[in-house]
Amino acid sequence: MTSPLNADLHCHSVISDGTLTPEALAERAKAHGVELWALTDHDEIGGQQRAAAAARRVGLQYLTGVEISVTFIGQTVHIVGLGVDPDNAELQLGLQRTRGGRGQRAIEMSEDLERVGIHGAYQGALKYAGNHELISRTHFARFLVETGVCRETNEVFRKYLTEGKPGYIEHRWASLKDAVGWIRQASGVAVIAHPARYKFSATEEFALFSEFKNHGGEAIEVVTGSHTTAEYASYADMATEFGLAASRGSDFHSPDESHTDLGTLPPLPEHLTPVWELLAERIQPLQ
Ligand code: AMP
Ligand code: MN
Ligand code: MN
Ligand code: MN
Repeated sequence: MTSPLNADLHCHSVISDGTLTPEALAERAKAHGVELWALTDHDEIGGQQRAAAAARRVGLQYLTGVEISVTFIGQTVHIVGLGVDPDNAELQLGLQRTRGGRGQRAIEMSEDLERVGIHGAYQGALKYAGNHELISRTHFARFLVETGVCRETNEVFRKYLTEGKPGYIEHRWASLKDAVGWIRQASGVAVIAHPARYKFSATEEFALFSEFKNHGGEAIEVVTGSHTTAEYASYADMATEFGLAASRGSDFHSPDESHTDLGTLPPLPEHLTPVWELLAERIQPLQ
């Protein structure tokens, strides 16, 4: 019997809110036994060439990737696109529009933090953003740790930057239909990222899965760094119920912050269709 493929199809580099370069991620993935890798920066495909080149150098099969921010029934949902063509104009334009509001949102987040006595957060966060267009809550979290407001980034998200807490600014991202559409136009496969993380009712979650499927979405993350073991099982059932393939990815951001490292998750449950089976022709092979 062959062992299951060690695929890690979700992580972030300095091009969005990770702390490692695409090259360092490729080396780390290789060192942890990853065989098929995808870099999925938030709303940005600017790191894809570097990631693909680094994967080739270290000897990893590679799939292009992106994680698109979407607003669905008032919540932020993340849709991963795998195997997308980075040269596709619709995808590029859609991502550019999605990134567009981040600067203004960051200024408003900073103003809100001023009200609770935290000064200079915008400039402070910007320092951590390798790509200023992609300034995110993660960069604010790093600044709040640096200045001693919190001990670690998880604590920041418990006390700040989330709904009802100081520094949280409501924001409208792409629509589900648009995000899935851009991915499909770019010949990719759309995947609902970490579905257990959303705070939907059962009815709302059913709506998310059905609309996603109706728009042409094909997979969900089942085994991810954001799920518990019990959630692997419940989302394996959801994949079966909705006729969706399954993905696996650590969602690794940083050696200092992420509790799940590249390539260290358990395999997908055997009865599921791995998403990479839908993407065989889009995998950059080993040289
Ligand atoms: P943004 O796209 O600016 O809203 O930032 C979202 C990012 O914040 C996510 O991709 C995570 O990297 C990070 N994040 C969100 N919630 C948490 C949390 N509870 N703990 C740690 N990081 C989080
Ligand atoms: Mn992130
Ligand atoms: Mn996400
Ligand atoms: Mn992610």
